[in-house]
Amino acid sequence: MMRPLYFDYNATTPILPVVFEAMRPFLTEHFGNPGSGHAWGMRARRAVDQARAQVAGLINCRPEEVYFTSCATESNNLVLRGLLEGVAGAHLVTTAMEHPAILEPARALAYLGLDLTLAGVDGQGLVDPGEVERACRPRTSLVSVMLANNETGAIQPLAEIASAARERGIPVHSDASQAVGKIAVDVAALGLDLMTIAGHKLYAPKGVGALYVREGLKLAPQMRGGGQERGLRSGTENVAFLVGLGAACELASQDLAQEEARQRGLGRLFLEGLAGLGADHMLFAEASPRLPGTMFVGFGCRRAADIISGLAGLDVAVSAGAACHGDATSLSHVLAAMAAPPEYAPGTIRFSWGRPTTPGDVAELLERLGQVLAQLG
Ligand code: PLP
Repeated sequence: MMRPLYFDYNATTPILPVVFEAMRPFLTEHFGNPGSGHAWGMRARRAVDQARAQVAGLINCRPEEVYFTSCATESNNLVLRGLLEGVAGAHLVTTAMEHPAILEPARALAYLGLDLTLAGVDGQGLVDPGEVERACRPRTSLVSVMLANNETGAIQPLAEIASAARERGIPVHSDASQAVGKIAVDVAALGLDLMTIAGHKLYAPKGVGALYVREGLKLAPQMRGGGQERGLRSGTENVAFLVGLGAACELASQDLAQEEARQRGLGRLFLEGLAGLGADHMLFAEASPRLPGTMFVGFGCRRAADIISGLAGLDVAVSAGAACHGDATSLSHVLAAMAAPPEYAPGTIRFSWGRPTTPGDVAELLERLGQVLAQLG
């Protein structure tokens, strides 16, 4: 039996044991509703408060500036709709490489009259702060730029973008779903007004997220009801999952720099091994600052689907940057926005690793990848 190899941590991560153990009592005996005034409720309330403080500690804001949601998609929708929906003459500046969780609500709002500008991306997967600045107008209502791209792993020049926007009094949001827990993320140093966090990208469960909202900034709630999350997001708190997100943030706070360096080391091993395989390839966003556990690699004259199915046959999980439909290949919108070279783009695979990944896993990945590439000829 072959050992399964998971190299798709950017899609999702497992719940780590320390996170699960923190959650467990809140799935069983500590089942109280944080809104109840009795002992059960108060215990749940304290747990939610602690989780909020743990999230705030990781991103350097005040606990009162953290709002829990069900996922990154909800956080992004809350920002876009909560700030822009129904506002006459509203203008949003975002980028062509955002996740659909930004692009789709932005397009839906554009259909209703929002003025939408998508800044481009260069060949290294970076947005140009100058282009964002030039796109801003006196009535621009929001700038939203992701912190790290989920496909390339490229880390955007966000502090520069935010400072130009804020000089004009424009609030700045970042979808930091792929960055939080992987690199140091400090909302104050970045100069952000709003920031999205996804639980399941940092070893908390799926179905929990958070939104940082700078104190004083007002958003229209999208879920109205019992007034939880200080009225911004009603619905009885998913206490166990919030506790999980808090524990995951606490873990990241403890050893972020060390774990980042370890994962960068795995990346060096991977790249050296890849060079040793002798297959024609290109690392996208090579010259950009990147996440420690992401490599977006285009294999020359190959189709991503063939590599993926070959690897799947050897029990390796990765993901594609291009999809095949019959004879046609459609590139991901990120590769398209980067104008990726046509010799490499159709054969693009995203390799992403995380805390449980060992050097032995990387060596085994390279071994199996070598077999697949050799079989494809
Ligand atoms: N934003 C980014 C950058 C992502 O990578 C993802 C998930 O892939 C999301 C948003 C959406 O996350 P979720 O599906 O958990 O809402």
